[in-house]
Amino acid sequence: MIRTEGIVLKEIRYKDTSKILSIYTKKYGKISVMARGAYRPKSQIIANTQAFSYNEYQLHRGKNFFYLNQADIIESFYSIREKIERVGFGYYLLELIDKSIPDEQENHKIFDLLLKGLTILSKLDREYFKFITAYELKFISFLGYKPYLNKCVLCGRTNTNNVKFSIQEGGIICSNCFAFNSPSIYINKEMYEGMNSLLYSPLEDVDKVIISKDSLYKLHEIMVEYILYNIDRQKFNSLNLINSLDEEHI
Ligand SMILES: [Zn+2]
Repeated sequence: MIRTEGIVLKEIRYKDTSKILSIYTKKYGKISVMARGAYRPKSQIIANTQAFSYNEYQLHRGKNFFYLNQADIIESFYSIREKIERVGFGYYLLELIDKSIPDEQENHKIFDLLLKGLTILSKLDREYFKFITAYELKFISFLGYKPYLNKCVLCGRTNTNNVKFSIQEGGIICSNCFAFNSPSIYINKEMYEGMNSLLYSPLEDVDKVIISKDSLYKLHEIMVEYILYNIDRQKFNSLNLINSLDEEHI
């Protein structure tokens, strides 16, 4: 029998009344949990087995799964479900973890980041891309791929006036080195400075970072590509919903 805090990343129906959950736990990392009877109409665990829900779980380990014995809700993050924009970005936060992290690998920093991210998102009404790009930068850094931004990754020069970002090298490349590295993306001064500010500001303060929507969106696209490259995946399904949202509201 184990006890741990955890956040539901994904729920899949199993047979008629059960669910198989992917839960990101504080103590054991990502685990698969069988929740028997979670789909019964009068189930006591409906709220504890929905995506975003944050609980204190009591589990026991079986052959293929952990089994849910008891769950006490800490925070349902229900207000994420009240706005389509929050839902889109929220599912992306969950999918980032689900696709990036192998089973049973604990990472306190990532757990705390997810918790903080969901808390901020549950109250967010605007500037979603500022929040999400800062989150992506922090997330990939905590996974061990922090982008090198203070000097050229190839030669070490600190002149950052005219730089590109290399997905493969994981950092900026100075103009002297452009010829040595073809697959890199030009980032203008605003994008470069924005990337630094978003990476190093606490997540709750990123709304103070000044950056245009256009630069922000480009940075977000670079970060998506950078994350996918490092976790060896092709795409994030939740980005389809985000990309279909009305631009005026995000
Ligand atoms: Zn260089």
